Amino acid sequence: MVKDIVCGMEVGKDTPYKMEYKGKTYYFCCGYCLEEFRKNPEKYLSSKSGDDLYSCGC
Ligand SMILES: [Zn+2]
Repeated sequence: MVKDIVCGMEVGKDTPYKMEYKGKTYYFCCGYCLEEFRKNPEKYLSSKSGDDLYSCGC
């Protein structure tokens, strides 16, 4: 399991919602999180866990 850094949920690596950024692959629980990360990757990469996480509602 890996962490969806947008909403903080645990996701499996078999998810279709993933994106490569700066040579690393990031996994997301749903398309909303993927889209949110795509729009503002640096915000999520720099935020510490527990910071205002995006709520995808899934
Ligand atoms: Zn999510």
